[in-house]
Order: sequence, then structure tokens, then C-alpha cells
Amino acid sequence: MRLHHQNQNMQLIDGRELANTIKEEIAVTVAAYVAEGNRPPHLAAVLVGADPASQVYVRNKVKSCEKVGFNSTLIEKGPETTESELLEIVDKLNKDPEIDGFIVQLPLPKHINEQKITLAIEPKKDVDGFHPTNFGRMAQGLPTYLPATPFGILQMLDRNNIDISGKECVVLGRSNIVGTPISILLSRKASPGNATVVLCHSRTKNVAEHCRRADVLIVALGIPEYVTADMVKEGAVVIDVGINRIDDASRKRGYRLAGDVKFDEVAPKCSFITPVPGGVGPMTVTALLMNTLKSCRKEVYD
Ligand code: NAD
Repeated sequence: MRLHHQNQNMQLIDGRELANTIKEEIAVTVAAYVAEGNRPPHLAAVLVGADPASQVYVRNKVKSCEKVGFNSTLIEKGPETTESELLEIVDKLNKDPEIDGFIVQLPLPKHINEQKITLAIEPKKDVDGFHPTNFGRMAQGLPTYLPATPFGILQMLDRNNIDISGKECVVLGRSNIVGTPISILLSRKASPGNATVVLCHSRTKNVAEHCRRADVLIVALGIPEYVTADMVKEGAVVIDVGINRIDDASRKRGYRLAGDVKFDEVAPKCSFITPVPGGVGPMTVTALLMNTLKSCRKEVYD
């Protein structure tokens, strides 16, 4: 058996704890805002179909709203919902002055064009930050709603005083919602930012070699336990975005959750690492609340 040098200073980034801290801060802000005579921030979520993971995510988002004193609306539609029906819902939410922001949970059923729906969302209410207008503003460093998962990751780095300026950052995965935006954010002239970023994807040769050079490794692939200890530099910061369901007959619900990182063998080499579950996931929900608060207070658009 190969023994990995145990890094005595390894710190677990507890996403749940940090998410709760930020939620408490939001709750205090909301209480003061409401005491001034304003209505509370209001987030709406649209769920189409019966994807079990999506159901969990959306319900978590709505529950979190209650926790911080937001109003929330959950619109659940069956898998037979048509594209034009969904466009109508989006249009109504765009026009509803009582709603500050809303999300349409992805993935959508195959007969609905996700891009068309994303483009139909009014950028002022696009608290997921997926609309090209908000994505473009992000890329240029203008005020915007940052996509929730990358925003949550930035919070984790910032609040743990992890300085990434001048560091080698490797991002695995180039999705529009995680890999690509986080690679842009880490390389921006900002704090956190100023990193030297390499973006790896399915066509990258020698992914492991890139990983071994990383001071900060962000993994968003959707491949359970892909990153092994031999791919990680001693003292690296590892952020595991992956959430994978693995069949496990010994569990009551029949599955367990695994990240994209083989946590047990990688963690001892790291200076910081996020667990799955309880890492990036809770931060994503919190980032969505932060964006909704910004929308309500008109901090991004007038
Ligand atoms: P995705 O599933 O859309 O795309 C996967 C990416 O991985 C692609 O860009 C592809 O090029 C790359 N890839 C695939 N195989 C590869 C390989 N062998 N080597 C290198 N790159 C490869 O990505 P996503 O939507 O960002 O999701 C990734 C994971 O993160 C999933 O497990 C998802 O459930 C999870 N996720 C978690 C959160 C959260 O809140 N924690 C949010 C979003 C996504």
C-alpha cells in the first residue's frame, strides 16, 4: 500500500457551516430591510418534470428562503409541460412586480429547449446568472448575478482567507454553469482572482499532469471519485463540485452521494478540501439567496 504524507494542517471547508453563517447574516439584513417598511425579498423556483435530484435541490432552495425571511413561490409542473407553457410561466414571472428573482431548475425534459428558456428570462430577475447578458457582465467584471455555484466557491475561498493570486488553478470540466464561469472568475483582476487558470475538459490530454501542478483544483465533471491522490500536489486546495448518486443497497434510500474526488485518499494531501455532501452544495443555495437579495435591493440593475 502506498502511504501518503499526512498534512497535519489539512482543513475541511465545511460548506454547511459557512452556508448557515451567511444565511444568518442575510436574515439579519432582511429583518432590518423589512423593519424599514419594505416587503421581503421574493424568490420563485420553477420545476418541470420529476427528476429526483432536481426535486431535492429545488425544495432546499425554497426551505432556505423561509430560513432567511424571504418569500418564496414554488411552481411544480409535470413532465408533459410544453415549451410554450413554460415560456408563458417565465413571461408571467418576468412581469410580476412581487417577484425579485426566479430560477428554472435544469435539466429540463428533452422536448424543451433549455437555451430558449434561459434567453426568455429577464436578466434583471435571472438570479441563477445563466442569461448571456449576466454571463457577459461577469466576464467583463461588471455588476451582475454571478452563477450560484461559482459564486459559492468564491465565498468559500474568500471566507477561508485562501489567497489564489498568482497561483496555478486547474478547473476540471467546462460546463456553462460551473467550469467555464469559475475559470473566468478565478482569472479576473479581482479578489478572489488573479490566478493563472488551466481549464481541462473531455479532450484534454494528460489531465493528471495538469492536476499535479495545481495549487487550487476545482473539480466539476460528474465522474464519481475521478481525482485520486496521485493527481494532487501536496498542500493543494481541492474544491469538489461533483454530486453523484452511487447505488448502495446498504443505505435506506438505496444510494449514497459521492463527489468527483476520492476524498479519503486525497484529503490527507490537501491544505483545504471540501466534502461531498456538505461542501459546495449548500453554498450554491446560499449564493442564490445572496443574488435574490441583491435583486430586491436593486444592487445590480436599477
Ligand atoms: P456537465 O455534466 O455539464 O459537464 C461535465 C464536464 O466534464 C464537461 O465539460 C466535460 O468536458 C468534462 N469531462 C467529462 N469527462 C471528462 C474527462 N474524462 N476528463 C476531463 N473532463 C471531462 O458538468 P456540470 O453541470 O458542471 O456538473 C458537474 C458535476 O457537478 C455533476 O456531478 C453535477 O451534479 C455537479 N454539480 C454540483 C453543483 C453543486 O451545487 N454542488 C452544481 C452544479 C453541478
